[in-house]
Amino acid sequence: MAKILIVDDEAPLRTMLSHMLIADNHEVIVAEDGGQGIKLYHEGMPDLVISDLVMPNKNGIDMILELKRDYPDLRLIAISGGGGITGAFDYLPTAKLVGADSILKKPFGIQELRDALKKSLGN
Ligand SMILES: [Mg+2]
Repeated sequence: MAKILIVDDEAPLRTMLSHMLIADNHEVIVAEDGGQGIKLYHEGMPDLVISDLVMPNKNGIDMILELKRDYPDLRLIAISGGGGITGAFDYLPTAKLVGADSILKKPFGIQELRDALKKSLGN
């Protein structure tokens, strides 16, 4: 069991991920953008962060950079819709460059998420 901070601007995705993780006996805290994510990380000191990348106010890449500066051992899984279909820029490779342990392209399955958690948490 781990304490996990979910950061995503889409409420349905936060809810879905929370349910998945709680069902696997994890403790969950949620934030809706990078700024709130940083605040809740400081306050809650989670074991791991699962973060979206494209968000208002403060995006995921900026949040990762700030957290990494203060917490070099940060454990983080980046999730994003990526580019392609919408023509939006794919930020996932950038997330990896700035220190994400794993990157998952939305939509992803529970097993992909479990595998990524296992890799980050080392259990
Ligand atoms: Mg988003």
